Amino acid sequence: MAALLREEILSLALESIAEGVYSLDGKGRIAFWNKGAERITGYSREESVGSSSSEDFLGHADEGGKPVRAEDCPAAATMSDGRARDAELYLRHKDGHRVPVGVRSLPVKDPKGKTVGAIEIFTDRSERGALLTELETLRKEVLTDALTGLGNRRYAEISLGSALGELVVGAAAFGLLILDIDNFKLVNDRYGHAIGDRVLRMIGWTLANAVRRNDAAARWGGEEFVVICPRIALGVLAEVAERVRAIVARSRIGLDDGRKISCTVSVGGALARRGDSLETLVARADERMYACKAAGRNRAEVGE
Ligand code: GH3
Ligand code: MG
Ligand code: MG
Repeated sequence: MAALLREEILSLALESIAEGVYSLDGKGRIAFWNKGAERITGYSREESVGSSSSEDFLGHADEGGKPVRAEDCPAAATMSDGRARDAELYLRHKDGHRVPVGVRSLPVKDPKGKTVGAIEIFTDRSERGALLTELETLRKEVLTDALTGLGNRRYAEISLGSALGELVVGAAAFGLLILDIDNFKLVNDRYGHAIGDRVLRMIGWTLANAVRRNDAAARWGGEEFVVICPRIALGVLAEVAERVRAIVARSRIGLDDGRKISCTVSVGGALARRGDSLETLVARADERMYACKAAGRNRAEVGE
């Protein structure tokens, strides 16, 4: 069980990293090929696993652009002498162009020290890769709320805009929940702004973790959050609203002196309908949220 878990964690990690990783078995055939390797080379796992590295379909070339003989490519050389090595090479992408990579090859040894395989790890050195990552980072920053790490208002508005656009072309109804923390000003007044910020983060993550994978939770501003639930019926939206209300009410932060702080939220929800704009949809959800405040707070109310 524990070993299985460890293997799963390892394979998850290998699939999520940016580097390409592949392994060679004792016969010099590719036995493992991760997502990074697919991305950098353009060759899928199906195309790669089982093929022999000595066929060298990646057509390694050295830093000067000269072809590297198959038996000199890092993983093959490591297979034959059992030594790890680093190299800077160009490989050939499936589409034909060259990709600069930094390569590290490592031997796989049996308990007696005999080399029974090799692992090669390669990193995309192209500027294009760096630029994409930078853009990706920038995009994330622009759409992320700095305090909570959730999506920000802009992210929520973009998501709502595209969901409203899909409604026009016949997509199933979606729901919007607006949550406002009850008497949050009291938390700031009593414990200070920094603790208030911690409560905001805690509630933001409670919310994000309480909704389905396809639902988007975002910070709408101040102490208000929204949840966008694609493809949902009114009854289910009501259940989600009630669930997040109840879970927030049961979550809390602990202070160093042992005191606990928890807050409740008032939740208003509306099902989007064709003809809705961002403003009309938000207004209906807001109205119900304020009705919950007036009725005593720590409540949820949704409607069409
Ligand atoms: P109600 O139940 O009617 O919503 O009462 P409330 O006190 O939550 O409402 P009000 O709008 O009067 O106060 C919201 C408070 O949220 C005021 C503001 O200081 C606080 N707040 C807004 N943004 C932040 C933030 O980023 N950090 C902290 N700590 N507080 C914030
Ligand atoms: Mg508010
Ligand atoms: Mg409030």
